[in-house]
Amino acid sequence: MAALASGAPRVAPTTPATPAPTPEYPEHCPPDVERLGRSTWTFLHTTAAYFPDRPSPTQRANMLMLLRALPTLYPCGHCADHLGSEMATHPPDVSSRAALSRWLCERHNEVNERLGKERFDCGLRSLDERWKDGPNDGSCG
Ligand SMILES: Cc1cc2nc3c(=O)[nH]c(=O)nc-3n(C[C@H](O)[C@H](O)[C@H](O)COP(=O)(O)OP(=O)(O)OC[C@H]3O[C@@H](n4cnc5c(N)ncnc54)[C@H](O)[C@@H]3O)c2cc1C
Repeated sequence: MAALASGAPRVAPTTPATPAPTPEYPEHCPPDVERLGRSTWTFLHTTAAYFPDRPSPTQRANMLMLLRALPTLYPCGHCADHLGSEMATHPPDVSSRAALSRWLCERHNEVNERLGKERFDCGLRSLDERWKDGPNDGSCG
C-alpha cells in the first residue's frame, strides 16, 4: 500500500530476512494510491466505453474538461504530474468512443510500464470485453 498524499512522511525501506506478508488494507479506510487508481481507471475506462461513436461538440467539450481537470485535481501528486506530462505530449482524442478508449488505454499502459506491470491490449474488442460487454463465456452475467 502507498501513502496517497505526496507530502506524507517517508520511512526508509528495510529488507527483512523473511519478508512479512502484506497485511490487507482495511476496506473502510481512506483509499491509498492503488485503490484510488483502480477506482479511477474503472470510472474512466467505463465512461470511455459508453462515450458516443459520434459525440456532439458539447459531449467532446465536457469530456475534454473532465480529462484536463485530472492533472490539477487528482489527489496523488506524482500521479497527477506524470499524467500532465503525458497529456502535454499526447493530447486527449475525444473524436469518438473508439479513439477515446484507445487514448485512455495507452495512457494507462504508460503507467503500467512505469510500475513494471503488463501492457493491456488496446484493441477495441479487448477494451469492450473488459469494460462494457464482458467475456463471451457468460461468466459476467
Ligand atoms: C491517472 C492515473 C495515474 C496514476 N499514476 C500512478 C503513478 O504515477 N504511480 C503509482 O504508483 N500509481 C499510479 N496510479 C495507480 C495505478 O495505475 C494502479 O491503479 C494501481 O497501482 C493499482 O493497480 P492494479 O494492478 O490493481 O490495476 P490498475 O492498473 O488499477 O488496473 C485496473 C484494471 O484495469 C485493466 N487494465 C489494465 N491496464 C489497462 C489499460 N491500459 N487499458 C484498459 N484497461 C486496463 C485491468 O483489467 C486491471 O485489472 C495512477 C492511476 C491513475 C488513474
